Amino acid sequence: MAGTRTVRGTRDLLPAESRTLRLVEETAWRTARRWGYGEVATPIFEFTEVFARTLGDTSDVVTKEMYTFEDRGGDSLTLRPENTAGIVRAFLSNSLAAQLPQRIFYRGPMFRYERPQKGRLRQFHQVGVELLGAADPLGDVEVIALAHEFLAALGLADKITLELNTLGSAQSRASYRACLVDYLQAHRSRLSPDSIARLERNPLRILDSKDESDRAVIAGAPVLQDSLDEASRVFFAAVCEGLDALEIPHRMNQRLVRGLDYYCHTTFEFTTDALGAQGTVLAGGRYDSLVEQMGGPSTPGTGWAAGVERLMMLSAEDAPAERPIAMIALGHEQSGAALRLARRLRLAGHTVMFGFASSLGKQMKWANRVGARLAIIVGADEVDRAVATVRDMDAGAQEEVSLDLLEERLARTA
Ligand code: ATP
Ligand code: MG
Repeated sequence: MAGTRTVRGTRDLLPAESRTLRLVEETAWRTARRWGYGEVATPIFEFTEVFARTLGDTSDVVTKEMYTFEDRGGDSLTLRPENTAGIVRAFLSNSLAAQLPQRIFYRGPMFRYERPQKGRLRQFHQVGVELLGAADPLGDVEVIALAHEFLAALGLADKITLELNTLGSAQSRASYRACLVDYLQAHRSRLSPDSIARLERNPLRILDSKDESDRAVIAGAPVLQDSLDEASRVFFAAVCEGLDALEIPHRMNQRLVRGLDYYCHTTFEFTTDALGAQGTVLAGGRYDSLVEQMGGPSTPGTGWAAGVERLMMLSAEDAPAERPIAMIALGHEQSGAALRLARRLRLAGHTVMFGFASSLGKQMKWANRVGARLAIIVGADEVDRAVATVRDMDAGAQEEVSLDLLEERLARTA
Protein backbone atom coordinates (compact mmCIF):
# COMPACT_ATOMS: atom_id res chain seq x y z
CA MET A 1 0.00 0.00 0.00
CA ALA A 2 2.20 2.80 -1.30
CA GLY A 3 -0.46 5.27 -0.26
CA THR A 4 0.15 4.61 3.44
CA ARG A 5 3.94 4.57 3.44
CA THR A 6 5.96 7.38 5.01
CA VAL A 7 8.95 8.78 3.14
CA ARG A 8 12.21 6.97 3.98
CA GLY A 9 13.85 8.46 7.04
CA THR A 10 10.66 10.08 8.32
CA ARG A 11 8.23 8.73 10.88
CA ASP A 12 5.05 9.31 12.80
CA LEU A 13 5.26 10.16 16.45
CA LEU A 14 2.44 8.43 18.31
CA PRO A 15 1.31 9.84 21.68
CA ALA A 16 3.90 8.01 23.83
CA GLU A 17 6.78 9.16 21.61
CA SER A 18 5.39 12.66 21.30
CA ARG A 19 5.29 12.89 25.08
CA THR A 20 8.95 11.91 25.28
CA LEU A 21 9.89 14.36 22.52
CA ARG A 22 8.05 17.19 24.28
CA LEU A 23 9.66 16.24 27.58
CA VAL A 24 13.13 16.56 26.03
CA GLU A 25 12.21 19.88 24.37
CA GLU A 26 10.58 21.26 27.50
CA THR A 27 13.54 20.26 29.66
CA ALA A 28 15.85 22.12 27.28
CA TRP A 29 13.58 25.16 27.23
CA ARG A 30 13.15 25.23 31.02
CA THR A 31 16.92 25.10 31.44
CA ALA A 32 17.62 27.75 28.79
CA ARG A 33 14.95 30.04 30.24
CA ARG A 34 16.65 29.94 33.62
CA TRP A 35 19.80 31.21 31.93
CA GLY A 36 17.85 34.14 30.44
CA TYR A 37 17.37 32.77 26.93
CA GLY A 38 14.36 33.72 24.81
CA GLU A 39 12.81 31.43 22.23
CA VAL A 40 13.04 32.38 18.57
CA ALA A 41 11.01 30.40 16.04
CA THR A 42 12.14 30.82 12.45
CA PRO A 43 10.39 29.35 9.38
CA ILE A 44 11.29 25.76 8.53
CA PHE A 45 12.22 26.90 5.02
CA GLU A 46 14.40 29.76 3.90
CA PHE A 47 15.90 31.02 0.67
CA THR A 48 18.52 28.45 -0.31
CA GLU A 49 21.31 31.00 -0.13
CA VAL A 50 20.81 31.39 3.64
CA PHE A 51 22.21 27.87 4.05
CA ALA A 52 24.38 27.63 0.95
CA ARG A 53 26.30 30.79 1.79
CA THR A 54 26.77 30.09 5.48
CA LEU A 55 27.48 26.39 5.44
CA GLY A 56 29.88 26.83 2.51
CA ASP A 57 29.74 24.92 -0.73
CA THR A 58 32.15 22.24 0.50
CA SER A 59 30.25 21.03 3.53
CA ASP A 60 28.48 17.66 3.40
CA VAL A 61 25.25 19.33 4.36
CA VAL A 62 25.25 21.63 1.34
CA THR A 63 26.73 19.27 -1.22
CA LYS A 64 24.72 16.17 -0.35
CA GLU A 65 22.09 16.64 2.28
CA MET A 66 19.82 19.60 1.53
CA TYR A 67 16.19 19.37 0.52
CA THR A 68 16.12 22.13 -2.05
CA PHE A 69 13.23 22.92 -4.35
CA GLU A 70 11.90 25.65 -6.55
CA ASP A 71 8.53 27.00 -5.44
CA ARG A 72 5.76 28.07 -7.77
CA GLY A 73 7.12 31.59 -7.86
CA GLY A 74 10.51 30.37 -9.10
CA ASP A 75 12.43 30.97 -5.84
CA SER A 76 14.93 28.38 -4.72
CA LEU A 77 13.98 27.33 -1.19
CA THR A 78 15.52 24.84 1.23
CA LEU A 79 14.07 23.00 4.20
CA ARG A 80 16.35 23.95 7.07
CA PRO A 81 19.09 21.34 7.64
CA GLU A 82 20.15 23.12 10.85
CA ASN A 83 19.14 26.35 12.53
CA THR A 84 22.21 28.47 13.24
CA ALA A 85 22.00 30.06 9.78
CA GLY A 86 18.27 30.73 10.23
CA ILE A 87 18.79 32.27 13.67
CA VAL A 88 21.57 34.53 12.39
CA ARG A 89 19.36 35.50 9.45
CA ALA A 90 16.59 36.39 11.93
CA PHE A 91 19.11 38.25 14.12
CA LEU A 92 19.94 40.43 11.12
CA SER A 93 16.39 40.73 9.68
CA ASN A 94 15.08 41.94 13.03
CA SER A 95 18.03 44.18 13.96
CA LEU A 96 18.73 42.26 17.14
CA ALA A 97 22.35 43.41 16.96
CA ALA A 98 21.22 46.71 18.49
CA GLN A 99 21.18 45.00 21.87
CA LEU A 100 23.97 42.60 22.69
CA PRO A 101 24.46 39.98 23.88
CA GLN A 102 21.43 38.10 22.58
CA ARG A 103 20.57 34.77 24.18
CA ILE A 104 18.44 32.66 21.85
CA PHE A 105 16.83 29.23 22.21
CA TYR A 106 15.15 27.25 19.43
CA ARG A 107 13.53 23.90 18.83
CA GLY A 108 11.92 22.09 15.94
CA PRO A 109 12.31 19.79 12.95
CA MET A 110 15.34 19.79 10.66
CA PHE A 111 15.67 18.06 7.29
CA ARG A 112 18.67 16.32 5.73
CA TYR A 113 18.84 13.92 2.83
CA GLU A 114 20.99 11.27 4.54
CA ARG A 115 21.16 7.50 4.51
CA PRO A 116 18.63 6.59 7.21
CA GLN A 117 19.93 4.37 10.01
CA LYS A 118 19.74 4.16 13.78
CA GLY A 119 19.94 7.72 15.10
CA ARG A 120 19.97 9.20 11.60
CA LEU A 121 16.71 10.40 10.09
CA ARG A 122 15.75 12.66 7.20
CA GLN A 123 13.35 14.62 9.36
CA PHE A 124 14.63 14.92 12.91
CA HIS A 125 14.34 17.42 15.73
CA GLN A 126 16.85 19.66 17.39
CA VAL A 127 16.91 21.95 20.37
CA GLY A 128 19.67 24.51 20.48
CA VAL A 129 20.97 27.80 21.82
CA GLU A 130 22.93 30.65 20.26
CA LEU A 131 24.71 33.34 22.25
CA LEU A 132 25.45 36.29 19.99
CA GLY A 133 27.67 39.20 20.91
CA ALA A 134 29.85 37.60 23.59
CA ALA A 135 33.52 37.49 22.64
CA ASP A 136 34.41 36.41 26.18
CA PRO A 137 35.52 32.78 26.68
CA LEU A 138 32.92 32.74 29.49
CA GLY A 139 30.35 32.81 26.68
CA ASP A 140 31.57 29.36 25.66
CA VAL A 141 31.53 28.29 29.30
CA GLU A 142 27.93 29.50 29.53
CA VAL A 143 26.57 27.54 26.57
CA ILE A 144 28.49 24.40 27.54
CA ALA A 145 27.37 24.61 31.16
CA LEU A 146 23.79 25.18 30.01
CA ALA A 147 24.05 22.05 27.82
CA HIS A 148 25.45 20.09 30.74
CA GLU A 149 22.63 21.22 33.01
CA PHE A 150 20.04 20.27 30.37
CA LEU A 151 21.50 16.77 29.90
CA ALA A 152 21.76 16.29 33.67
CA ALA A 153 18.10 17.31 34.03
CA LEU A 154 17.27 14.50 31.58
CA GLY A 155 19.09 12.11 33.92
CA LEU A 156 21.93 11.56 31.45
CA ALA A 157 24.85 12.97 33.44
CA ASP A 158 26.44 9.53 33.83
CA LYS A 159 25.90 8.47 30.24
CA ILE A 160 27.66 11.33 28.48
CA THR A 161 31.17 12.67 28.00
CA LEU A 162 32.09 16.24 27.11
CA GLU A 163 34.83 16.40 24.49
CA LEU A 164 36.49 19.69 23.77
CA ASN A 165 38.91 21.17 21.29
CA THR A 166 40.12 24.54 20.08
CA LEU A 167 40.67 25.64 16.52
CA GLY A 168 42.28 28.86 17.66
CA SER A 169 41.99 32.21 15.96
CA ALA A 170 41.48 32.54 12.20
CA GLN A 171 45.24 33.10 11.78
CA SER A 172 46.15 30.03 13.85
CA ARG A 173 43.77 28.01 11.78
CA ALA A 174 45.19 29.23 8.49
CA SER A 175 48.75 28.39 9.48
CA TYR A 176 47.68 24.95 10.69
CA ARG A 177 45.75 24.36 7.52
CA ALA A 178 48.88 25.04 5.48
CA CYS A 179 51.02 22.58 7.40
CA LEU A 180 48.26 19.96 7.40
CA VAL A 181 47.89 20.19 3.62
CA ASP A 182 51.68 19.77 3.22
CA TYR A 183 51.59 16.62 5.30
CA LEU A 184 48.49 15.18 3.61
CA GLN A 185 49.88 15.90 0.12
CA ALA A 186 52.92 13.82 1.04
CA HIS A 187 50.58 10.90 1.91
CA ARG A 188 48.07 11.51 -0.82
CA SER A 189 48.28 7.99 -2.27
CA ARG A 190 46.92 6.47 0.96
CA LEU A 191 43.93 8.80 1.27
CA SER A 192 40.37 7.83 0.35
CA PRO A 193 38.82 9.47 -2.75
CA ASP A 194 36.54 11.53 -0.46
CA SER A 195 39.54 12.86 1.41
CA ILE A 196 41.48 13.63 -1.74
CA ALA A 197 38.51 15.65 -2.91
CA ARG A 198 38.61 17.58 0.37
CA LEU A 199 42.34 18.18 0.28
CA GLU A 200 42.09 21.54 -1.39
CA ARG A 201 38.66 22.73 -0.39
CA ASN A 202 38.21 21.53 3.18
CA PRO A 203 41.30 19.72 4.51
CA LEU A 204 40.37 19.98 8.19
CA ARG A 205 37.39 17.77 7.56
CA ILE A 206 39.76 14.92 6.67
CA LEU A 207 40.67 14.72 10.36
CA ASP A 208 37.08 13.66 10.94
CA SER A 209 37.16 10.80 8.40
CA LYS A 210 36.02 7.34 9.46
CA ASP A 211 37.88 5.59 6.59
CA GLU A 212 40.53 3.20 7.95
CA SER A 213 43.31 4.10 5.59
CA ASP A 214 42.61 7.80 6.23
CA ARG A 215 42.74 7.16 9.94
CA ALA A 216 46.21 5.65 9.67
CA VAL A 217 47.44 8.74 7.82
CA ILE A 218 45.72 11.08 10.28
CA ALA A 219 47.38 9.36 13.23
CA GLY A 220 50.71 10.87 12.15
CA ALA A 221 49.38 14.27 11.11
CA PRO A 222 50.62 17.47 12.74
CA VAL A 223 48.29 18.59 15.53
CA LEU A 224 46.53 21.90 15.60
CA GLN A 225 47.69 22.60 19.13
CA ASP A 226 51.22 23.19 17.85
CA SER A 227 49.99 25.97 15.55
CA LEU A 228 48.07 27.92 18.20
CA ASP A 229 49.16 31.48 18.84
CA GLU A 230 49.44 32.83 22.38
CA ALA A 231 46.07 34.58 22.41
CA SER A 232 44.32 31.40 21.27
CA ARG A 233 45.97 29.41 24.06
CA VAL A 234 44.92 31.96 26.65
CA PHE A 235 41.35 31.92 25.32
CA PHE A 236 41.09 28.16 25.51
CA ALA A 237 42.66 28.01 28.96
CA ALA A 238 39.95 30.40 30.18
CA VAL A 239 37.23 28.10 28.79
CA CYS A 240 38.74 25.09 30.55
CA GLU A 241 39.12 27.05 33.79
CA GLY A 242 35.47 28.09 33.73
CA LEU A 243 34.38 24.47 33.24
CA ASP A 244 36.70 23.38 36.06
CA ALA A 245 35.21 26.05 38.33
CA LEU A 246 31.81 24.44 37.71
CA GLU A 247 33.27 20.94 38.06
CA ILE A 248 32.10 19.96 34.62
CA PRO A 249 34.33 17.08 33.50
CA HIS A 250 35.79 17.43 30.01
CA ARG A 251 38.26 15.65 27.79
CA MET A 252 40.46 17.03 25.03
CA ASN A 253 39.74 15.60 21.58
CA GLN A 254 41.96 17.09 18.91
CA ARG A 255 39.91 15.53 16.15
CA LEU A 256 36.88 17.72 16.89
CA VAL A 257 37.27 20.15 14.03
CA ARG A 258 33.73 20.87 12.71
CA GLY A 259 33.98 21.14 8.97
CA LEU A 260 32.77 24.68 8.51
CA ASP A 261 34.95 27.68 7.83
CA TYR A 262 33.28 30.04 10.23
CA TYR A 263 34.17 28.04 13.34
CA CYS A 264 37.05 29.24 15.51
CA HIS A 265 38.34 28.71 19.03
CA THR A 266 36.15 26.34 21.04
CA THR A 267 34.43 23.27 19.57
CA PHE A 268 32.70 20.65 21.69
CA GLU A 269 30.51 17.56 21.63
CA PHE A 270 28.65 15.59 24.23
CA THR A 271 28.93 11.93 23.24
CA THR A 272 27.71 8.59 24.52
CA ASP A 273 28.75 4.95 24.02
CA ALA A 274 25.15 3.83 24.24
CA LEU A 275 24.05 4.61 20.67
CA GLY A 276 26.65 2.90 18.48
CA ALA A 277 28.06 4.91 15.60
CA GLN A 278 25.67 7.84 16.08
CA GLY A 279 27.10 8.71 19.50
CA THR A 280 27.04 12.51 19.36
CA VAL A 281 23.96 13.85 21.10
CA LEU A 282 24.89 17.54 21.25
CA ALA A 283 27.48 19.51 19.32
CA GLY A 284 28.56 23.11 19.03
CA GLY A 285 31.26 25.70 18.94
CA ARG A 286 32.26 29.31 18.47
CA TYR A 287 31.58 31.04 15.16
CA ASP A 288 32.95 34.57 15.32
CA SER A 289 32.91 35.26 11.57
CA LEU A 290 29.48 33.91 10.65
CA VAL A 291 27.40 37.04 11.21
CA GLU A 292 29.79 39.11 9.14
CA GLN A 293 29.86 36.43 6.46
CA MET A 294 26.08 36.81 6.22
CA GLY A 295 26.41 40.53 5.65
CA GLY A 296 25.95 41.76 9.21
CA PRO A 297 28.20 43.70 11.57
CA SER A 298 31.12 41.72 12.98
CA THR A 299 29.53 39.86 15.91
CA PRO A 300 30.97 36.92 17.81
CA GLY A 301 28.77 33.88 18.37
CA THR A 302 28.78 30.58 20.19
CA GLY A 303 26.17 27.87 20.59
CA TRP A 304 25.08 24.27 20.13
CA ALA A 305 22.41 21.97 18.78
CA ALA A 306 21.23 18.67 20.25
CA GLY A 307 19.55 15.79 18.43
CA VAL A 308 16.24 15.17 20.18
CA GLU A 309 15.68 11.65 18.75
CA ARG A 310 19.12 10.56 19.97
CA LEU A 311 18.32 11.90 23.43
CA MET A 312 14.98 10.08 23.32
CA MET A 313 16.81 6.83 22.56
CA LEU A 314 18.99 7.36 25.64
CA SER A 315 16.01 7.70 27.96
CA ALA A 316 15.05 4.10 28.70
CA GLU A 317 11.30 4.59 28.68
CA ASP A 318 8.77 6.87 27.11
CA ALA A 319 7.43 9.53 29.43
CA PRO A 320 4.36 8.13 31.23
CA ALA A 321 0.93 9.42 30.31
CA GLU A 322 -1.14 11.19 32.92
CA ARG A 323 -3.76 8.83 34.33
CA PRO A 324 -7.22 10.18 33.53
CA ILE A 325 -10.49 10.08 35.40
CA ALA A 326 -13.11 8.05 33.51
CA MET A 327 -16.55 9.70 33.53
CA ILE A 328 -19.30 7.13 33.13
CA ALA A 329 -23.02 7.86 32.80
CA LEU A 330 -25.15 4.80 33.54
CA GLY A 331 -27.96 5.77 31.21
CA HIS A 332 -28.79 8.26 28.49
CA GLU A 333 -30.75 10.38 30.97
CA GLN A 334 -27.63 11.08 33.04
CA SER A 335 -25.40 12.14 30.15
CA GLY A 336 -26.13 15.86 30.68
CA ALA A 337 -25.15 15.64 34.36
CA ALA A 338 -22.02 13.62 33.46
CA LEU A 339 -21.00 16.13 30.75
CA ARG A 340 -21.33 19.00 33.23
CA LEU A 341 -19.43 17.14 35.93
CA ALA A 342 -16.60 16.31 33.49
CA ARG A 343 -16.37 19.97 32.49
CA ARG A 344 -16.24 21.07 36.09
CA LEU A 345 -13.38 18.68 36.89
CA ARG A 346 -11.39 19.63 33.78
CA LEU A 347 -11.68 23.28 34.69
CA ALA A 348 -10.35 22.34 38.13
CA GLY A 349 -7.29 20.86 36.38
CA HIS A 350 -8.14 17.16 36.18
CA THR A 351 -7.76 15.06 33.05
CA VAL A 352 -11.17 13.57 32.34
CA MET A 353 -12.13 11.12 29.58
CA PHE A 354 -15.77 10.71 28.74
CA GLY A 355 -17.18 7.20 28.29
CA PHE A 356 -19.62 6.77 25.43
CA ALA A 357 -22.83 4.86 26.07
CA SER A 358 -22.57 1.10 26.50
CA SER A 359 -22.99 -1.37 29.34
CA LEU A 360 -21.34 -0.60 32.68
CA GLY A 361 -19.14 -3.70 32.25
CA LYS A 362 -17.82 -2.49 28.91
CA GLN A 363 -17.26 0.99 30.25
CA MET A 364 -15.25 -0.37 33.19
CA LYS A 365 -13.11 -2.40 30.77
CA TRP A 366 -12.52 0.76 28.75
CA ALA A 367 -11.60 2.69 31.90
CA ASN A 368 -9.02 0.02 32.72
CA ARG A 369 -7.61 0.04 29.22
CA VAL A 370 -7.02 3.80 29.20
CA GLY A 371 -5.30 3.55 32.57
CA ALA A 372 -7.88 5.55 34.53
CA ARG A 373 -6.98 6.04 38.18
CA LEU A 374 -10.60 6.72 39.11
CA ALA A 375 -13.97 6.11 37.52
CA ILE A 376 -16.86 8.40 38.38
CA ILE A 377 -20.18 6.71 37.82
CA VAL A 378 -23.33 8.78 37.50
CA GLY A 379 -26.68 6.98 37.72
CA ALA A 380 -30.30 8.19 38.09
CA ASP A 381 -30.31 7.67 41.82
CA GLU A 382 -26.99 9.52 42.20
CA VAL A 383 -28.23 12.49 40.21
CA ASP A 384 -31.32 12.74 42.41
CA ARG A 385 -29.24 12.82 45.57
CA ALA A 386 -26.46 15.09 44.18
CA VAL A 387 -23.79 12.44 44.72
CA ALA A 388 -21.52 10.34 42.48
CA THR A 389 -19.90 6.96 42.87
CA VAL A 390 -16.12 7.20 42.85
CA ARG A 391 -14.28 3.98 42.12
CA ASP A 392 -10.58 3.62 42.78
CA MET A 393 -9.47 1.55 39.79
CA ASP A 394 -6.34 0.21 41.47
CA ALA A 395 -7.83 -0.74 44.82
CA GLY A 396 -11.15 -1.77 43.32
CA ALA A 397 -12.94 0.01 46.18
CA GLN A 398 -15.76 2.46 45.61
CA GLU A 399 -17.56 5.03 47.68
CA GLU A 400 -20.32 7.55 47.31
CA VAL A 401 -19.20 11.18 47.41
CA SER A 402 -21.37 14.28 47.64
CA LEU A 403 -20.87 16.46 44.55
CA ASP A 404 -19.98 19.39 46.80
CA LEU A 405 -17.04 17.46 48.20
CA LEU A 406 -15.89 15.86 44.95
CA GLU A 407 -12.81 18.05 44.28
CA GLU A 408 -11.68 17.51 47.87
CA ARG A 409 -12.02 13.76 47.46
CA LEU A 410 -10.11 13.81 44.16
CA ALA A 411 -7.29 15.85 45.65
CA ARG A 412 -6.60 12.94 47.98
CA THR A 413 -5.70 10.57 45.13
CA ALA A 414 -4.18 13.06 42.68
P1 ATP B 1 26.88 13.57 12.43
O1 ATP B 1 28.36 13.57 12.53
O2 ATP B 1 26.20 12.54 13.33
O3 ATP B 1 26.36 13.54 11.02
P2 ATP B 1 26.52 16.41 12.38
O4 ATP B 1 27.85 16.99 12.62
O5 ATP B 1 25.97 16.34 11.00
O6 ATP B 1 26.41 14.95 13.07
P3 ATP B 1 25.24 18.63 13.66
O7 ATP B 1 24.97 19.34 12.40
O8 ATP B 1 26.30 19.10 14.56
O9 ATP B 1 25.45 17.08 13.35
O10 ATP B 1 23.86 18.51 14.47
C1 ATP B 1 23.79 18.47 15.89
C2 ATP B 1 23.14 17.21 16.38
O11 ATP B 1 21.94 16.91 15.68
C3 ATP B 1 23.97 15.96 16.18
O12 ATP B 1 24.94 15.83 17.18
C4 ATP B 1 22.93 14.87 16.28
O13 ATP B 1 22.61 14.57 17.63
C5 ATP B 1 21.74 15.51 15.62
N1 ATP B 1 21.62 15.06 14.22
C6 ATP B 1 22.33 15.50 13.14
N2 ATP B 1 21.92 14.88 12.01
C7 ATP B 1 20.92 14.03 12.39
C8 ATP B 1 20.07 13.13 11.68
N3 ATP B 1 20.15 12.97 10.36
N4 ATP B 1 19.14 12.42 12.38
C9 ATP B 1 19.04 12.56 13.72
N5 ATP B 1 19.80 13.41 14.45
C10 ATP B 1 20.73 14.14 13.80
MG1 MG C 1 25.87 14.90 9.52
